[in-house]
Amino acid sequence: MSVTLVESSTVPPIGVGEGTWPTMRNTLAKIGITETQFIQSCDAAFKQGARFVGWVDGSPNDGYYHPLNPPVGAAELNLSPHWEAASASFADSVDFQAALCTAGLAPKDITSAEFRGVANYAYHLDAGKFAMVLREHSVNKLGVRHVVGDVMRIHQAQNGDITSVELADGQTLAGDLFVDCSGFAALLIGGVYKVPFQRCGDTLFIDRALAMQVPYPEPEAPITCHTVSTAQDAGWIWDIGLWTRRGIGYVYSSSHTSDDEAEATLRRYVGPAADALTPRKIAIQSGHREWFWQNNCVAVGLSAGFLEPLEASALLLIEISMDNIADRLPRTRGAMEVVARQFNETFQHHWKRIIEFLKLHYVLTQRTDTAFWRDNVLPSSIPESLQERLELWRVHPPGPHDFSHAREVFSWPSYQYILHGMRFRTRYAELAHVAREMTDAKRLLARAAQQRKEALQKMPPHRELLKKIRTYGLQAV
Ligand SMILES: Cc1cc2nc3c(=O)[nH]c(=O)nc-3n(C[C@H](O)[C@H](O)[C@H](O)COP(=O)(O)OP(=O)(O)OC[C@H]3O[C@@H](n4cnc5c(N)ncnc54)[C@H](O)[C@@H]3O)c2cc1C
Repeated sequence: MSVTLVESSTVPPIGVGEGTWPTMRNTLAKIGITETQFIQSCDAAFKQGARFVGWVDGSPNDGYYHPLNPPVGAAELNLSPHWEAASASFADSVDFQAALCTAGLAPKDITSAEFRGVANYAYHLDAGKFAMVLREHSVNKLGVRHVVGDVMRIHQAQNGDITSVELADGQTLAGDLFVDCSGFAALLIGGVYKVPFQRCGDTLFIDRALAMQVPYPEPEAPITCHTVSTAQDAGWIWDIGLWTRRGIGYVYSSSHTSDDEAEATLRRYVGPAADALTPRKIAIQSGHREWFWQNNCVAVGLSAGFLEPLEASALLLIEISMDNIADRLPRTRGAMEVVARQFNETFQHHWKRIIEFLKLHYVLTQRTDTAFWRDNVLPSSIPESLQERLELWRVHPPGPHDFSHAREVFSWPSYQYILHGMRFRTRYAELAHVAREMTDAKRLLARAAQQRKEALQKMPPHRELLKKIRTYGLQAV
């Protein structure tokens, strides 16, 4: 089998997308890029989750964590009904990772093996550098043929299959399976097959982004070890710490603010460092293709769809799409029909669930200060299945049985962190079984407190660890 990558010399990659999910560790290991190499060449830093600032009521202390560690003893007991007795937030009561984030400490130390940590983690990375590393690695180590050229024409067989793509220089590239990774252009899935685009702007209102690359005020400035997502009048600002700079951007709803106001908001957030910078403007269409695999073409990445980057679900979807395609690469054209149908069912499920999970971040807000936040809690904007689950979760904490799909993208601990972080009102305390579980719950909460104490003593500052990795490297697995 051979793989050819066609890349335009005139259309650059989108160049944003700097927050990942922990799956990236497996992806890198699987394709043979070491963690040391990745950190050194992509300006990468560790990400231990997200902190949502100002999402509940916008008051000065409003902020909560969605860490990547599951609650302590998650397989033994659901701690959702028990943490309220503790004096701290849910994330701080049931695990130690939020404390590491607050203290600016790393999820591993220099003696940890590659891709292993004391806490679960993902990465922040420089998207432009990562694209280059992937390209070079694919060509030099994995035998991918790289062709630079603009796809101008598509040739199809009578059954609609794509037989070849023709480039501007007249070169024709034939193939059995075509992966549409042409970004928002969606050259094949949209251009050739006209697969309808299912918008979800009625649920997720964000449709614009302004992005800046902001230098640190001094070379030794601490590097935040989580994504900070700060609520604004008409959207939210992401703030991602890399080795050499921060990636900061405002994603907003153009129905709720103007581009000029949005830019002023972003500049206020960044402060004086923004004076020397011009933000990049990106229009976003929130939604996805109704199906992703048609004939012998499968859409991956922005060509398949895009949702606001609240939980770094886009790179994650690319990773699981590629895993799925590699694992189930059809051995015959006949087998492709079944594989395609299964792929479409799986990814329709993923997109639906991700939309619901992202909307969950908004629906419990108590903010009423702007139309953006008021509109976000209108029942007409909330998918019925999410409304149903919210009712259920008032009496049954989210748990593994809520998520029947074998490979759920976001699992129940993530839902718990958002619900409790957003101060979801539950009736758990009134329910009889809660009292019976009290002894076990106290034991687990005490374990989490002990782990927190140890981790705070043991883990190194984030920048210090990155410096060591860049100088000495990590141990091979
Ligand atoms: C504002 C914003 C913030 C984001 N933040 C995150 C995040 O934090 N985490 C996350 O997981 N994701 C994030 N994403 C999504 C992430 O950036 C993308 O999923 C990722 O970069 C993959 O993009 P892509 O490869 O599908 O498209 P692109 O990067 O746009 O690449 C498209 C490629 O197609 C080629 N091409 C186009 N037309 C032709 C043609 N005619 N002929 C030949 N080649 C062609 C181009 O040369 C280019 O290389 C964000 C996206 C946006 C817009």
